[in-house]
Amino acid sequence: MASGKRIAIAGPSIGPQEIAYVTEAVETGWYEHANDFPARFEAAMAAQVGVRFAVATPSCTSAIHLALAARRIGPGDEVIVPDLTWIASSAPITYVGATPVFADCDPETWCITAAAIERRLAPRTKAIIAVDLYGSMPQLEEIRRLADARGLFLIEDAAEAIGSTLGGRAAGSFGHAGVFSFHGSKTVTTGEGGMFVTDDPALLERVRFLRDHGRAPGEKMFWNSEVAFKYRMSALQAALGLAQVERVNELVEKKRQILSWYREELADLPWLTFNVEPPGVRNSVWMTTVIFPMRPENEKERVIRALGERGIDLRPFFYPLSTLPAYEQLPAAAAARREHRRAHEISKYGVNLPCALRLERSDIATVAGALRGVVAPPA
Ligand SMILES: *Cc1c(COP(=O)(O)O)cnc(C)c1O
Repeated sequence: MASGKRIAIAGPSIGPQEIAYVTEAVETGWYEHANDFPARFEAAMAAQVGVRFAVATPSCTSAIHLALAARRIGPGDEVIVPDLTWIASSAPITYVGATPVFADCDPETWCITAAAIERRLAPRTKAIIAVDLYGSMPQLEEIRRLADARGLFLIEDAAEAIGSTLGGRAAGSFGHAGVFSFHGSKTVTTGEGGMFVTDDPALLERVRFLRDHGRAPGEKMFWNSEVAFKYRMSALQAALGLAQVERVNELVEKKRQILSWYREELADLPWLTFNVEPPGVRNSVWMTTVIFPMRPENEKERVIRALGERGIDLRPFFYPLSTLPAYEQLPAAAAARREHRRAHEISKYGVNLPCALRLERSDIATVAGALRGVVAPPA
């Protein structure tokens, strides 16, 4: 990488195929061909995930919104979501008028657990959103069994996990619905974009209806039977996404390589905790993430500031949702703040390291050197 540039936290790899497809889309993706690239992108994603149906959306947030709305989750309902995740996982719960309930996360996998979900079950619980944090994966088979036994709707938020597998099965395929993000920071990108996936034809039909202003397929033009949403993806974005998905194995290999470079460069600091691969999981490592020894000098904001001054972009581990001002008034947040001590400590001493797809080994060595000078060993 050219010197003088900041070492970026995240960013895409754009190759000749991306340029070719987007050029083709802007030249031809109109008139009777307007849906060609979206349909190809959806088919490629369905194949990648191993599910029957995929629907391209403007974002992962809108895909979660659609999933909840399609299942008619609404006022009075509770939806269980992990305390450690990005607010995009939970914000759509509020969009449909339901209430988020935060569940604890495993200190090693950083993901929600079946036991933590069980502790938050209540008569009003209607759905679970399980998140594959930073490419790690929770015990999704167990969580699916729990959901099915209780008639709960399970959404797998695989926004950060395209290319991860559990027991050989792709991330995104374990819920009644799965969702992905193609935001510019994600491993596979369309700039902004998302995908809803499912094996359930009835759910698919409802999602297609809701994402196009409540028009039933085959209904006469401009004839809406419900007030709904407008959540579609353009041919230009889908063309970019198709080229990226065709390269998903290469992109994931690079992400995994970046993590292994960090492990090698920092092998002399065995007290650093990196992303793990839970049993049976192949972790696609969207973000190389490291947890420091828990002492005040190592609080994430301090380390982020120190490396920022050296031209290195770190990101904080997600703040627990239960600590955000956005959820201050929520009764479930108070319980989470009291009970999720370990998870909250991980967040306090955790950062994402630069893992943009353009980075090279020398960049990783630079970050490792800077980190070594800033992070304190266990007290
Ligand atoms: C990025 C992300 C989202 C949201 O994706 P958008 O496409 O930005 O809406 C949702 N959930 C998780 C876990 C994410 O990391």
